[in-house]
Amino acid sequence: MSLSRKRFLQDETPTHKRVSHDFPTIAKLYGVIAEASHISIPRKSGGVVLGRSSACDLRISGTDVSSKHCQFSLACNEAGREFLYVTDMSSNGTFVNDELIGKASTTLLKSGDKLQFAKTGGAYIFRYAVDEVEDRNRKKSFFDDYIMGAPLGSGHYAVVKEARDRHSGDVVAVKIFHPNKGSNNVNTQKQEEETAKLQQEMNLLLSFNHPNIVKFISYYVEPISQHSVTTYLVLEKMNDGELFQRIVNKSKLGQLETKAIFRQLLSGLSYLHDNNIIHRDIKPENILLDITPRTSSEQIQTGPWDEHELDIKVKIADFGLAKFIGELKFTNTLCGTPAYVAPEILDNSNERTYSTKADIWSSGVLLYVCLCGFPPFSEELAPPSMKDQILEGKYAFYSPYWDDISDSALDLISSLLVVEPGQRFDVSQTARHFWFSESENSIEPSSSQISSEAMHVESIATSTSSIERTQLRSNTQPLSLREAYTSELNFQKSSVA
Ligand code: ADP
Repeated sequence: MSLSRKRFLQDETPTHKRVSHDFPTIAKLYGVIAEASHISIPRKSGGVVLGRSSACDLRISGTDVSSKHCQFSLACNEAGREFLYVTDMSSNGTFVNDELIGKASTTLLKSGDKLQFAKTGGAYIFRYAVDEVEDRNRKKSFFDDYIMGAPLGSGHYAVVKEARDRHSGDVVAVKIFHPNKGSNNVNTQKQEEETAKLQQEMNLLLSFNHPNIVKFISYYVEPISQHSVTTYLVLEKMNDGELFQRIVNKSKLGQLETKAIFRQLLSGLSYLHDNNIIHRDIKPENILLDITPRTSSEQIQTGPWDEHELDIKVKIADFGLAKFIGELKFTNTLCGTPAYVAPEILDNSNERTYSTKADIWSSGVLLYVCLCGFPPFSEELAPPSMKDQILEGKYAFYSPYWDDISDSALDLISSLLVVEPGQRFDVSQTARHFWFSESENSIEPSSSQISSEAMHVESIATSTSSIERTQLRSNTQPLSLREAYTSELNFQKSSVA
Protein backbone atom coordinates (compact mmCIF):
# COMPACT_ATOMS: atom_id res chain seq x y z
CA MET A 1 0.00 0.00 0.00
CA SER A 2 1.36 3.43 -0.91
CA LEU A 3 1.97 6.00 1.77
CA SER A 4 -0.63 8.36 0.33
CA ARG A 5 -3.26 5.58 0.32
CA LYS A 6 -2.48 4.72 3.94
CA ARG A 7 -2.86 8.34 4.92
CA PHE A 8 -6.19 8.59 3.13
CA LEU A 9 -7.53 5.56 5.01
CA GLN A 10 -6.45 6.97 8.34
CA ASP A 11 -8.27 10.19 7.51
CA GLU A 12 -11.44 8.17 7.14
CA THR A 13 -11.26 6.67 10.63
CA PRO A 14 -13.96 7.92 13.04
CA THR A 15 -12.98 11.00 15.02
CA HIS A 16 -11.38 11.00 18.50
CA LYS A 17 -11.27 7.21 19.01
CA ARG A 18 -7.66 6.57 18.12
CA VAL A 19 -5.86 6.27 21.48
CA SER A 20 -8.67 5.74 23.93
CA HIS A 21 -8.33 1.95 24.05
CA ASP A 22 -4.66 1.99 24.96
CA PHE A 23 -4.72 4.50 27.82
CA PRO A 24 -7.14 5.07 30.71
CA THR A 25 -9.38 8.11 30.37
CA ILE A 26 -8.28 11.05 32.53
CA ALA A 27 -10.98 13.51 31.43
CA LYS A 28 -13.87 13.91 29.06
CA LEU A 29 -15.13 16.67 26.81
CA TYR A 30 -18.92 16.74 26.72
CA GLY A 31 -20.40 18.38 23.62
CA VAL A 32 -22.44 21.45 24.52
CA ILE A 33 -25.07 20.81 21.87
CA ALA A 34 -27.15 17.69 22.51
CA GLU A 35 -26.25 15.82 19.31
CA ALA A 36 -22.47 16.35 19.73
CA SER A 37 -20.52 13.30 20.81
CA HIS A 38 -18.16 13.18 23.80
CA ILE A 39 -14.40 13.05 23.54
CA SER A 40 -12.38 10.95 25.99
CA ILE A 41 -8.94 12.36 26.75
CA PRO A 42 -6.51 9.53 27.50
CA ARG A 43 -3.93 9.73 30.28
CA LYS A 44 -0.80 9.81 28.18
CA SER A 45 2.44 11.10 29.67
CA GLY A 46 3.79 12.60 26.42
CA GLY A 47 0.65 14.70 25.96
CA VAL A 48 -2.42 14.32 23.76
CA VAL A 49 -2.77 16.39 20.60
CA LEU A 50 -6.20 17.36 19.30
CA GLY A 51 -6.80 18.70 15.82
CA ARG A 52 -7.99 18.09 12.28
CA SER A 53 -5.00 16.03 11.13
CA SER A 54 -4.93 12.24 11.16
CA ALA A 55 -1.62 12.50 12.99
CA CYS A 56 -3.45 13.81 16.08
CA ASP A 57 -4.40 11.61 19.02
CA LEU A 58 -7.88 13.12 19.00
CA ARG A 59 -9.51 14.37 15.83
CA ILE A 60 -12.22 16.93 15.39
CA SER A 61 -13.58 18.47 12.24
CA GLY A 62 -14.26 22.10 11.38
CA THR A 63 -13.18 24.37 8.57
CA ASP A 64 -11.19 26.74 10.79
CA VAL A 65 -9.73 24.04 13.08
CA SER A 66 -5.95 23.77 12.78
CA SER A 67 -4.37 20.48 11.82
CA LYS A 68 -2.78 20.43 15.28
CA HIS A 69 -5.12 22.63 17.28
CA CYS A 70 -4.09 22.15 20.91
CA GLN A 71 -2.31 19.76 23.25
CA PHE A 72 -3.44 18.37 26.61
CA SER A 73 -0.55 17.67 29.01
CA LEU A 74 -0.36 16.14 32.45
CA ALA A 75 0.70 17.98 35.60
CA CYS A 76 0.68 16.86 39.20
CA ASN A 77 0.12 18.92 42.36
CA GLU A 78 1.95 18.41 45.66
CA ALA A 79 -0.80 16.13 46.98
CA GLY A 80 -0.34 13.80 44.00
CA ARG A 81 -3.50 14.84 42.20
CA GLU A 82 -3.18 14.87 38.41
CA PHE A 83 -4.38 17.75 36.28
CA LEU A 84 -4.42 18.58 32.61
CA TYR A 85 -3.36 21.83 31.09
CA VAL A 86 -4.06 22.79 27.54
CA THR A 87 -1.57 24.47 25.20
CA ASP A 88 -3.00 26.40 22.27
CA MET A 89 -1.28 25.52 18.96
CA SER A 90 -3.93 26.91 16.63
CA SER A 91 -4.25 29.86 14.29
CA ASN A 92 -7.92 30.48 15.01
CA GLY A 93 -7.89 30.02 18.75
CA THR A 94 -8.61 27.66 21.60
CA PHE A 95 -10.92 29.28 24.13
CA VAL A 96 -11.41 28.39 27.82
CA ASN A 97 -14.52 29.89 29.33
CA ASP A 98 -14.77 32.18 26.27
CA GLU A 99 -11.24 33.53 26.78
CA LEU A 100 -8.60 33.00 24.14
CA ILE A 101 -5.62 31.06 25.51
CA GLY A 102 -3.24 32.45 22.87
CA LYS A 103 -0.80 30.61 20.68
CA ALA A 104 1.84 28.67 22.68
CA SER A 105 0.19 29.72 25.96
CA THR A 106 -1.25 27.29 28.47
CA THR A 107 -4.19 27.13 30.85
CA LEU A 108 -4.87 24.65 33.62
CA LEU A 109 -8.20 22.89 33.17
CA LYS A 110 -10.74 22.33 35.90
CA SER A 111 -13.96 20.40 35.80
CA GLY A 112 -16.76 22.55 34.45
CA ASP A 113 -14.57 24.63 32.12
CA LYS A 114 -16.01 25.33 28.68
CA LEU A 115 -13.59 24.63 25.84
CA GLN A 116 -14.10 25.85 22.33
CA PHE A 117 -11.97 25.03 19.28
CA ALA A 118 -11.99 27.99 16.85
CA LYS A 119 -15.44 28.90 15.50
CA THR A 120 -16.41 25.63 13.93
CA GLY A 121 -14.63 23.00 16.05
CA GLY A 122 -17.42 22.85 18.62
CA ALA A 123 -17.86 23.76 22.28
CA TYR A 124 -17.39 21.24 25.07
CA ILE A 125 -17.61 21.06 28.86
CA PHE A 126 -14.45 19.60 30.37
CA ARG A 127 -14.65 17.09 33.26
CA TYR A 128 -12.02 14.97 35.01
CA ALA A 129 -13.01 11.31 35.04
CA VAL A 130 -11.82 10.71 38.58
CA ASP A 131 -13.05 7.67 40.44
CA GLU A 132 -15.43 9.10 43.06
CA VAL A 133 -14.38 6.76 45.87
CA GLU A 134 -10.69 7.27 45.34
CA ASP A 135 -11.21 10.99 45.05
CA ARG A 136 -12.67 11.16 48.53
CA ASN A 137 -9.39 9.85 49.96
CA ARG A 138 -7.34 12.29 47.99
CA LYS A 139 -6.73 16.01 48.44
CA LYS A 140 -9.13 17.74 46.11
CA SER A 141 -8.68 20.74 43.92
CA PHE A 142 -9.82 24.15 45.20
CA PHE A 143 -12.50 24.10 42.51
CA ASP A 144 -13.87 20.77 43.74
CA ASP A 145 -14.61 22.41 47.09
CA TYR A 146 -15.38 26.06 46.26
CA ILE A 147 -17.17 28.19 43.70
CA MET A 148 -15.12 31.28 42.91
CA GLY A 149 -16.90 34.62 43.34
CA ALA A 150 -16.31 38.36 42.99
CA PRO A 151 -12.95 40.05 43.61
CA LEU A 152 -12.43 41.62 47.05
CA GLY A 153 -9.14 43.35 46.30
CA SER A 154 -5.57 42.85 45.30
CA GLY A 155 -2.25 43.35 47.01
CA HIS A 156 1.48 42.89 46.60
CA TYR A 157 1.51 39.14 46.36
CA ALA A 158 -2.01 38.06 45.58
CA VAL A 159 -5.53 38.81 44.47
CA VAL A 160 -8.29 38.14 46.96
CA LYS A 161 -11.70 36.91 45.87
CA GLU A 162 -14.87 35.80 47.52
CA ALA A 163 -15.72 32.07 47.23
CA ARG A 164 -18.55 29.83 48.37
CA ASP A 165 -18.06 26.41 49.97
CA ARG A 166 -19.88 23.96 47.68
CA HIS A 167 -20.96 21.80 50.63
CA SER A 168 -21.76 24.19 53.50
CA GLY A 169 -22.61 27.28 51.44
CA ASP A 170 -20.30 29.36 53.68
CA VAL A 171 -18.77 32.43 52.08
CA VAL A 172 -15.00 32.69 52.48
CA ALA A 173 -12.16 34.85 51.17
CA VAL A 174 -9.59 33.15 48.96
CA LYS A 175 -6.16 34.61 48.48
CA ILE A 176 -4.75 33.56 45.12
CA PHE A 177 -0.99 34.03 45.09
CA HIS A 178 0.78 35.09 41.92
CA PRO A 179 2.25 32.01 40.17
CA ASN A 180 5.38 30.53 41.62
CA LYS A 181 7.92 28.15 40.14
CA GLY A 182 6.71 24.62 40.74
CA SER A 183 8.78 21.67 41.88
CA ASN A 184 9.04 20.34 38.28
CA ASN A 185 7.67 17.09 39.63
CA VAL A 186 11.20 15.87 40.34
CA ASN A 187 10.85 14.33 43.75
CA THR A 188 14.31 14.53 45.20
CA GLN A 189 14.69 13.71 48.87
CA LYS A 190 15.38 17.38 49.67
CA GLN A 191 12.14 18.46 47.99
CA GLU A 192 10.20 15.82 49.85
CA GLU A 193 11.67 17.04 53.14
CA GLU A 194 10.80 20.65 52.26
CA THR A 195 7.25 19.68 51.33
CA ALA A 196 6.84 17.77 54.61
CA LYS A 197 8.16 20.77 56.59
CA LEU A 198 5.83 23.15 54.77
CA GLN A 199 2.91 20.79 55.37
CA GLN A 200 3.76 20.70 59.09
CA GLU A 201 3.91 24.50 59.29
CA MET A 202 0.63 24.81 57.38
CA ASN A 203 -1.04 22.36 59.73
CA LEU A 204 0.05 24.54 62.65
CA LEU A 205 -1.48 27.64 60.99
CA LEU A 206 -4.65 25.66 60.21
CA SER A 207 -4.99 24.72 63.88
CA PHE A 208 -5.02 28.36 65.04
CA ASN A 209 -8.27 29.59 66.43
CA HIS A 210 -8.65 32.96 68.14
CA PRO A 211 -11.38 35.61 67.91
CA ASN A 212 -8.83 38.27 66.93
CA ILE A 213 -7.00 36.52 64.15
CA VAL A 214 -8.43 35.85 60.69
CA LYS A 215 -9.12 32.10 60.58
CA PHE A 216 -7.01 30.15 58.13
CA ILE A 217 -9.39 27.50 56.72
CA SER A 218 -7.37 25.54 54.15
CA TYR A 219 -4.93 25.86 51.29
CA TYR A 220 -4.37 24.28 47.89
CA VAL A 221 -1.24 24.29 45.75
CA GLU A 222 -2.20 23.70 42.15
CA PRO A 223 -0.25 23.67 38.89
CA ILE A 224 -1.16 26.21 36.27
CA SER A 225 1.39 25.00 33.77
CA GLN A 226 4.19 22.49 33.69
CA HIS A 227 6.56 24.84 35.49
CA SER A 228 4.43 26.96 37.78
CA VAL A 229 1.96 26.59 40.60
CA THR A 230 -0.58 28.85 42.24
CA THR A 231 -1.50 28.71 45.92
CA TYR A 232 -5.08 29.24 47.02
CA LEU A 233 -5.33 30.27 50.66
CA VAL A 234 -8.85 29.96 52.03
CA LEU A 235 -9.56 32.44 54.83
CA GLU A 236 -12.41 33.57 57.02
CA LYS A 237 -14.06 36.43 55.13
CA MET A 238 -14.06 39.82 56.85
CA ASN A 239 -16.86 42.11 55.76
CA ASP A 240 -15.89 45.67 56.62
CA GLY A 241 -12.48 46.33 55.20
CA GLU A 242 -9.21 47.41 56.73
CA LEU A 243 -8.40 49.53 59.77
CA PHE A 244 -6.41 51.59 57.24
CA GLN A 245 -9.61 52.75 55.52
CA ARG A 246 -11.23 53.60 58.87
CA ILE A 247 -8.28 55.86 59.75
CA VAL A 248 -8.39 57.46 56.29
CA ASN A 249 -12.15 58.08 56.55
CA LYS A 250 -11.94 59.63 60.02
CA SER A 251 -8.48 61.30 59.61
CA LYS A 252 -7.55 59.82 63.02
CA LEU A 253 -9.23 57.80 65.77
CA GLY A 254 -10.22 58.94 69.25
CA GLN A 255 -8.38 57.51 72.26
CA LEU A 256 -11.29 55.41 73.48
CA GLU A 257 -11.84 53.82 70.09
CA THR A 258 -8.11 53.23 69.66
CA LYS A 259 -7.97 51.56 73.07
CA ALA A 260 -10.89 49.26 72.23
CA ILE A 261 -9.25 48.31 68.93
CA PHE A 262 -5.85 47.77 70.57
CA ARG A 263 -7.25 45.54 73.31
CA GLN A 264 -8.45 43.15 70.60
CA LEU A 265 -5.31 43.55 68.54
CA LEU A 266 -3.06 42.77 71.51
CA SER A 267 -5.16 39.74 72.41
CA GLY A 268 -4.64 38.34 68.87
CA LEU A 269 -0.95 39.26 68.91
CA SER A 270 -0.47 37.59 72.28
CA TYR A 271 -1.99 34.38 70.86
CA LEU A 272 0.37 34.49 67.86
CA HIS A 273 3.42 35.17 70.07
CA ASP A 274 2.44 32.37 72.48
CA ASN A 275 2.50 30.08 69.43
CA ASN A 276 5.92 31.40 68.39
CA ILE A 277 4.57 33.18 65.33
CA ILE A 278 6.10 36.57 64.55
CA HIS A 279 3.78 38.46 62.24
CA ARG A 280 6.41 40.95 60.96
CA ASP A 281 3.89 42.99 58.95
CA ILE A 282 1.58 44.59 61.49
CA LYS A 283 0.11 47.67 59.80
CA PRO A 284 -3.42 49.10 59.42
CA GLU A 285 -3.86 47.35 56.04
CA ASN A 286 -3.49 43.99 57.79
CA ILE A 287 -6.03 44.66 60.54
CA LEU A 288 -9.46 43.71 59.21
CA LEU A 289 -12.86 44.63 60.62
CA ASP A 290 -16.27 43.03 60.94
CA ILE A 291 -18.91 45.54 61.99
CA THR A 292 -22.34 44.63 63.34
CA PRO A 293 -24.69 47.52 62.55
CA ARG A 294 -26.85 49.06 65.26
CA THR A 295 -30.45 49.01 64.13
CA SER A 296 -32.05 50.91 67.02
CA SER A 297 -30.89 53.40 69.63
CA GLU A 298 -32.04 50.97 72.37
CA GLN A 299 -29.29 48.51 71.47
CA ILE A 300 -26.34 48.84 73.83
CA GLN A 301 -23.03 49.12 72.01
CA THR A 302 -20.19 46.79 72.97
CA GLY A 303 -17.63 49.59 72.79
CA PRO A 304 -16.97 53.24 72.00
CA TRP A 305 -18.03 52.80 68.38
CA ASP A 306 -19.87 55.20 66.05
CA GLU A 307 -23.64 55.75 66.60
CA HIS A 308 -24.66 53.26 63.93
CA GLU A 309 -22.26 50.50 65.03
CA LEU A 310 -23.25 47.88 67.60
CA ASP A 311 -20.02 45.88 67.66
CA ILE A 312 -16.66 45.79 65.90
CA LYS A 313 -14.54 42.66 65.70
CA VAL A 314 -10.89 43.39 64.98
CA LYS A 315 -8.78 40.62 63.47
CA ILE A 316 -5.16 40.31 62.42
CA ALA A 317 -4.69 39.09 58.84
CA ASP A 318 -1.71 37.87 56.85
CA PHE A 319 0.26 36.03 59.52
CA GLY A 320 2.60 33.30 58.25
CA LEU A 321 2.70 35.02 54.85
CA ALA A 322 6.44 34.43 54.36
CA LYS A 323 5.66 30.69 54.09
CA PHE A 324 3.61 31.27 50.95
CA ILE A 325 5.75 33.75 49.10
CA GLY A 326 9.26 32.86 50.25
CA GLU A 327 11.37 34.41 52.98
CA LEU A 328 13.53 36.62 50.74
CA LYS A 329 10.68 38.13 48.72
CA PHE A 330 8.72 38.79 51.91
CA THR A 331 11.56 40.55 53.75
CA ASN A 332 12.52 42.56 50.66
CA THR A 333 8.94 43.80 50.25
CA LEU A 334 8.77 44.70 53.95
CA CYS A 335 11.96 46.71 53.76
CA GLY A 336 10.83 48.40 50.52
CA THR A 337 8.11 50.35 52.39
CA PRO A 338 9.45 50.35 55.92
CA ALA A 339 7.03 52.75 57.70
CA TYR A 340 6.02 50.05 60.20
CA VAL A 341 9.15 47.90 60.12
CA ALA A 342 11.26 47.41 63.26
CA PRO A 343 14.89 48.67 63.15
CA GLU A 344 16.30 45.18 63.76
CA ILE A 345 14.60 43.95 60.54
CA LEU A 346 15.83 46.98 58.55
CA ASP A 347 19.37 46.78 59.87
CA ASN A 348 21.37 44.74 57.33
CA SER A 349 24.39 44.44 59.63
CA ASN A 350 22.17 42.63 62.12
CA GLU A 351 21.83 39.56 59.86
CA ARG A 352 18.12 40.06 60.36
CA THR A 353 17.76 38.49 63.76
CA TYR A 354 14.46 39.47 65.20
CA SER A 355 11.93 38.27 67.72
CA THR A 356 8.29 38.85 68.63
CA LYS A 357 9.45 42.32 69.74
CA ALA A 358 9.48 43.31 66.04
CA ASP A 359 5.65 43.19 66.13
CA ILE A 360 5.64 45.42 69.22
CA TRP A 361 7.56 48.10 67.35
CA SER A 362 5.03 47.93 64.48
CA SER A 363 2.18 48.11 67.01
CA GLY A 364 3.80 51.26 68.43
CA VAL A 365 3.86 52.82 64.95
CA LEU A 366 0.23 51.77 64.48
CA LEU A 367 -0.81 53.27 67.82
CA TYR A 368 0.92 56.52 66.89
CA VAL A 369 -0.83 56.56 63.48
CA CYS A 370 -4.29 55.83 64.97
CA LEU A 371 -4.05 58.71 67.43
CA CYS A 372 -2.68 61.47 65.18
CA GLY A 373 -3.38 60.26 61.62
CA PHE A 374 0.20 60.33 60.31
CA PRO A 375 3.18 57.99 60.78
CA PRO A 376 6.07 58.74 63.16
CA PHE A 377 8.69 57.90 60.52
CA SER A 378 8.41 59.19 56.98
CA GLU A 379 10.30 60.88 54.16
CA GLU A 380 8.18 64.01 54.80
CA LEU A 381 9.94 64.35 58.16
CA ALA A 382 13.44 64.01 56.63
CA PRO A 383 16.26 64.70 57.23
CA PRO A 384 17.39 62.17 58.24
CA SER A 385 15.92 59.67 55.79
CA MET A 386 13.00 57.50 56.91
CA LYS A 387 15.34 54.51 57.21
CA ASP A 388 17.71 56.44 59.49
CA GLN A 389 14.81 57.84 61.54
CA ILE A 390 13.79 54.22 62.22
CA LEU A 391 17.31 52.91 62.87
CA GLU A 392 17.94 55.78 65.31
CA GLY A 393 14.42 55.68 66.80
CA LYS A 394 14.08 59.36 65.94
CA TYR A 395 10.48 60.51 66.26
CA ALA A 396 8.55 63.16 68.17
CA PHE A 397 5.08 64.04 69.39
CA TYR A 398 4.37 67.15 67.39
CA SER A 399 2.32 70.07 68.63
CA PRO A 400 -0.56 70.78 68.03
CA TYR A 401 -1.43 67.21 66.88
CA TRP A 402 -0.53 65.57 70.21
CA ASP A 403 -1.61 68.39 72.56
CA ASP A 404 -4.97 66.82 73.47
CA ILE A 405 -3.76 63.25 73.75
CA SER A 406 -3.09 61.98 77.25
CA ASP A 407 0.47 61.65 78.51
CA SER A 408 -0.18 58.01 79.28
CA ALA A 409 -0.73 57.27 75.57
CA LEU A 410 2.56 59.00 74.76
CA ASP A 411 4.21 57.06 77.58
CA LEU A 412 3.00 53.77 76.09
CA ILE A 413 4.19 54.68 72.58
CA SER A 414 7.57 55.64 74.06
CA SER A 415 7.81 52.13 75.57
CA LEU A 416 7.08 50.50 72.21
CA LEU A 417 9.22 52.61 69.85
CA VAL A 418 12.48 51.60 71.55
CA VAL A 419 15.30 50.70 69.16
CA GLU A 420 16.86 48.06 71.43
CA PRO A 421 14.42 45.07 71.39
CA GLY A 422 15.55 43.99 74.87
CA GLN A 423 14.42 47.34 76.32
CA ARG A 424 11.14 47.34 74.40
CA PHE A 425 7.87 46.22 76.04
CA ASP A 426 6.52 42.78 75.21
CA VAL A 427 2.87 42.11 74.41
CA SER A 428 1.85 41.44 78.01
CA GLN A 429 3.54 44.60 79.34
CA THR A 430 1.83 46.54 76.55
CA ALA A 431 -1.62 45.17 77.42
CA ARG A 432 -1.06 46.00 81.11
CA HIS A 433 0.01 49.59 80.50
CA PHE A 434 -2.08 52.03 82.54
CA TRP A 435 -3.32 53.86 79.43
CA PHE A 436 -5.75 50.96 79.01
CA SER A 437 -7.24 51.31 82.46
CA GLU A 438 -7.31 55.06 82.89
CA SER A 439 -10.42 57.23 82.79
CA GLU A 440 -12.71 54.81 80.99
CA ASN A 441 -15.68 57.03 81.87
CA SER A 442 -14.36 60.31 80.57
CA ILE A 443 -14.79 60.93 76.85
CA GLU A 444 -11.24 61.84 75.90
CA PRO A 445 -8.90 62.04 78.89
CA SER A 446 -6.05 64.52 78.93
CA SER A 447 -2.88 64.43 81.02
CA SER A 448 -4.52 66.22 83.95
CA GLN A 449 -7.20 63.53 84.15
CA ILE A 450 -4.98 60.54 84.92
CA SER A 451 -6.50 59.49 88.22
CA SER A 452 -4.48 57.77 90.92
CA GLU A 453 -7.13 55.06 90.86
CA ALA A 454 -6.25 54.34 87.25
CA MET A 455 -2.69 53.59 88.33
CA HIS A 456 -3.78 50.08 89.13
CA VAL A 457 -1.25 47.76 90.83
CA GLU A 458 -1.28 45.53 87.75
CA SER A 459 -0.68 48.45 85.43
CA ILE A 460 2.67 49.37 84.04
CA ALA A 461 4.08 52.75 83.21
CA THR A 462 7.64 53.74 82.44
CA SER A 463 7.24 57.32 83.62
CA THR A 464 4.36 59.52 84.63
CA SER A 465 5.97 62.89 84.16
CA SER A 466 4.60 65.08 81.41
CA ILE A 467 5.95 64.17 77.97
CA GLU A 468 7.16 66.96 75.81
CA ARG A 469 5.34 67.94 72.60
CA THR A 470 7.75 69.17 69.93
CA GLN A 471 7.25 72.03 67.50
CA LEU A 472 7.62 71.01 63.89
CA ARG A 473 10.40 72.56 61.85
CA SER A 474 8.86 75.40 59.84
CA ASN A 475 9.71 73.72 56.51
CA THR A 476 8.33 70.30 57.56
CA GLN A 477 4.82 68.95 57.33
CA PRO A 478 3.85 65.35 58.13
CA LEU A 479 1.66 63.69 55.51
CA SER A 480 -1.46 62.13 57.00
CA LEU A 481 -2.67 58.69 55.90
CA ARG A 482 -5.70 60.42 54.45
CA GLU A 483 -3.61 62.87 52.38
CA ALA A 484 -1.28 60.11 51.19
CA TYR A 485 -4.27 57.98 50.22
CA THR A 486 -6.04 60.83 48.38
CA SER A 487 -2.93 61.80 46.43
CA GLU A 488 -2.35 58.12 45.51
CA LEU A 489 -5.96 57.90 44.28
CA ASN A 490 -5.58 61.09 42.23
CA PHE A 491 -2.32 59.78 40.78
CA GLN A 492 -4.05 56.52 39.76
CA LYS A 493 -6.95 58.46 38.19
CA SER A 494 -4.61 60.71 36.22
CA SER A 495 -2.55 57.74 34.95
CA VAL A 496 -5.76 56.02 33.78
CA ALA A 497 -6.92 59.20 32.03
P1 ADP B 1 -1.33 41.23 49.78
O1 ADP B 1 -0.95 40.53 51.05
O2 ADP B 1 -0.94 40.50 48.54
O3 ADP B 1 -0.85 42.66 49.78
P2 ADP B 1 -3.86 41.80 50.84
O4 ADP B 1 -3.81 40.95 52.06
O5 ADP B 1 -3.56 43.23 51.02
O6 ADP B 1 -2.93 41.22 49.72
O7 ADP B 1 -5.31 41.66 50.26
C1 ADP B 1 -5.80 42.41 49.15
C2 ADP B 1 -7.21 42.89 49.42
O8 ADP B 1 -8.06 41.83 49.84
C3 ADP B 1 -7.29 43.96 50.50
O9 ADP B 1 -8.21 44.95 50.09
C4 ADP B 1 -7.82 43.22 51.70
O10 ADP B 1 -8.57 44.05 52.52
C5 ADP B 1 -8.69 42.13 51.08
N1 ADP B 1 -8.70 40.96 51.97
C6 ADP B 1 -7.62 40.24 52.35
N2 ADP B 1 -7.99 39.24 53.18
C7 ADP B 1 -9.33 39.32 53.34
C8 ADP B 1 -10.32 38.60 54.11
N3 ADP B 1 -9.96 37.57 54.88
N4 ADP B 1 -11.61 38.99 54.03
C9 ADP B 1 -11.96 40.03 53.25
N5 ADP B 1 -11.09 40.77 52.53
C10 ADP B 1 -9.80 40.43 52.56
